[in-house]
Amino acid sequence: MFFVEVVLPLSLAKTFTYRISEAEFHFIKKGMRVSVPFGKSKIYTALVLDVHQNEPSLYDAKEIHQILDEKPIATEIQIKHWLWVANYYMCGIGDVYRGAFPSGLLLESETIISHKADIVVNENELSDEEFLVYEALQQQSSLKVQEIISILNKKNILPTLQKMIAKNIIVLEEEIKEGYKPKLVRYVKLHAKYESDNGLGELLEILKSANKQKEIVLAYFQTMASEKKPITVKKLVEVSNSTSATVKALIDKEIFEEYLLQHDRVSFEGETSDKQLLLSEAQENAFTAIKNNFLEKEVCLLHGVTSSGKTEIYIKLIEEYLATGKQVLYLLPEIALTTQLVSRLRLHFGDKVAVFHSKYSNNERVEVWKQTLENSEKAKIVIGARSALFLPFNNLGLLIVDEEHEQTFKQSDPAPRYHARDAAIVLANFHSAKVLLGSATPSIETYFNTQTDKYGLVSLTERYNNVKMPEILLVDLKDKQFRKRMTGHFSDVLIEEITEALSLGEQVILFQNRRGYSPIIECMTCGHVPHCQQCDVSLTFHKHKNQLRCHYCGYSIAKPTHCHSCSSIDLTTKGFGTEQIEQELVSLFPKAKTGRMDQDTTRGKYGFEKIIDSFKNREIDILVGTQMLAKGLDFDNVSLVGIMNADNMLHHPDFRAFERSFQMMTQVAGRAGRSEKQGKVVIQTYNPNHNTIQQVTTHNYMGMYKEQLYDRQIYKYPPYFRIIKLTLKHREFEKLKEGSMWLYQVLSQNLGIPVLGPEEPAISRIRNEYIRTILIKIPQNLPLASTKKTIQKMLNSFEAVAQYRAIKVIANVDFY
Ligand code: ADP
Ligand code: ZN
Ligand code: ZN
Repeated sequence: MFFVEVVLPLSLAKTFTYRISEAEFHFIKKGMRVSVPFGKSKIYTALVLDVHQNEPSLYDAKEIHQILDEKPIATEIQIKHWLWVANYYMCGIGDVYRGAFPSGLLLESETIISHKADIVVNENELSDEEFLVYEALQQQSSLKVQEIISILNKKNILPTLQKMIAKNIIVLEEEIKEGYKPKLVRYVKLHAKYESDNGLGELLEILKSANKQKEIVLAYFQTMASEKKPITVKKLVEVSNSTSATVKALIDKEIFEEYLLQHDRVSFEGETSDKQLLLSEAQENAFTAIKNNFLEKEVCLLHGVTSSGKTEIYIKLIEEYLATGKQVLYLLPEIALTTQLVSRLRLHFGDKVAVFHSKYSNNERVEVWKQTLENSEKAKIVIGARSALFLPFNNLGLLIVDEEHEQTFKQSDPAPRYHARDAAIVLANFHSAKVLLGSATPSIETYFNTQTDKYGLVSLTERYNNVKMPEILLVDLKDKQFRKRMTGHFSDVLIEEITEALSLGEQVILFQNRRGYSPIIECMTCGHVPHCQQCDVSLTFHKHKNQLRCHYCGYSIAKPTHCHSCSSIDLTTKGFGTEQIEQELVSLFPKAKTGRMDQDTTRGKYGFEKIIDSFKNREIDILVGTQMLAKGLDFDNVSLVGIMNADNMLHHPDFRAFERSFQMMTQVAGRAGRSEKQGKVVIQTYNPNHNTIQQVTTHNYMGMYKEQLYDRQIYKYPPYFRIIKLTLKHREFEKLKEGSMWLYQVLSQNLGIPVLGPEEPAISRIRNEYIRTILIKIPQNLPLASTKKTIQKMLNSFEAVAQYRAIKVIANVDFY
């Protein structure tokens, strides 16, 4: 008898055994997909981990339906890595599998399929099966895979569906819901009529009397000659010093043609830039030092101050790895940052750069998947956020984790709750590849690893091109309030500095950390604050919609006109968010154009990029934003950064609060003065003498590191202790309280290490579920794997207690 061992894309730790024929046994390899029945009537796409001849003893193995691949589409290293992730982060291998694969490769009975709107299908080119599916979808706009199976009375249709997805005839419903719209950028080219050699001559003749238009045409020819790449409408307007209306007139006249391209997929038709990248002396030294480190170590940290030109060093290093035929993975904390980076990398590497984006259409993700698997020339360098880590690399040589300190590298929900930086280091190890971590403000953990010689360390202490580090001015808010030097949330100093920057035509960034500073409505008579009905949080006031909203579940009500508790109409707004600052700016600087970057204004897929673009193009003078601003953006005309209130970050109840405040303020400050001029940063605070604020002001990373490290040791936190956070959830308060106490006692009695809790978190109810947390601290000298096994055993026995079975328990290893 012959069997396959498969993993299902479900939150299950177990693998499952299915029966196969002898012929199938000889054909199937690890990493191929098979479709299998599961439960009463479900069908899933499962991944083969093994073929064997051991009949399962506990259940009757069902037969697989069908083999879906001719050769493996996942690699052995990849599967090994997934198993590591599942084991280390205490989740099911099914969680990792489901998270790793583009959903187009994971069709299951519940997947909803639609025919693609506005597409002309040549029915003669469809196979018989494809035609049947196509016809079924003509009757009903969308169908579950399960329904198609019964309509056609045929189980084995997944490959047919997959082919039709690849041909763009049908799409997955989830994509339609997502409303995915790639960002299209307008380009111009010469109308076909004038493409001949004497096109320019003809045009000048036609435009004899239209000077403005003639200039544009000339500018077009010049730019094309020098840059040899597609030219955007925006660029043409810029170089010809004209307006988009004039360009439009030329398009209407059929002198130019307009076309749209998806921006991050633009491939250069001409050559890439021949300009050799010249590193400064400091960069060159750092580059050599990194390579020397790699002779002995797997991982190296590049600690380079903001604007020191880390990216240029990455590019040099990538060049060397590509020359040996290796693949390179470049991880970023935020996918929104890719456009800037992709254009920078494409300039050097042309079409070898692929982007893996969780929001791209299935076909695009599948394409990158296959290119990576085949080690194709088109995906030698893969850029992506954390999930790119799960692609099927087969010859990986270098992994770059840029802004390694960023908390977004840790996935918090759903499982796998992995840290991409740490998982990248393990993956590199499986590939015998090297890892370069880069940051201006490394995480304490990473820096500690350099100090204990686990990782190499290379420092770059000067900014590129002799740009000075920004000058930092501290403003004591207590003093300013006392002396009545505040206008709203702006001190006189900040107002003066903004006025000066604007008068010089320079741009300003204002940073307001949102955390804990959401505006709320409070009754002046009784102090009542409206709360969410399902979550234990106050509702946040959104001025532009005149609404109160819950940031946890989205519940919203219209702004009340009177207090719900005492009916008083004396209501006031408390706290301040980015919106209120923007409002104040309008009255302080009525002539300046302001923009806002926060979760509300960047909601759409490209919302973030749109704002960045208009700021780069100087359509915005003052940009107000939250921590999104801190993420490695490069603006060349910003001379002033204002931090509206530094204190709330510091007072966050979290052992990383000081580290994070330092990182955030240093990173935001780093946006100032990136070209010739020294930038200025104004930090408004009630605690100008706070150590962390002083460390930011004096650019003293080492001071921050040493102080924090000391605290971490005293209070038993990373890097001295590893932390596992257990979150328990249930709708009944009493049951949860009892259950979490039970689990806490079992854990603390059996583990013999610090177990804290069960604690009621600051927000102790979300979507009507109560929450309790338990923190387990594992000292570095204890074997982690066996401790986790013990914990898992206790979680299993908790689950076995009948009255607690309904309590959800989530484990978060290396909780961030
Ligand atoms: P970091 O990532 O360290 O903050 P960047 O890599 O963004 O810094 O570099 C800052 C700026 O300096 C960028 O505009 C970059 O193009 C420029 N720059 C850095 N190094 C070089 C170099 N060797 N040649 C030309 N420009 C450089
Ligand atoms: Zn809510
Ligand atoms: Zn009231």
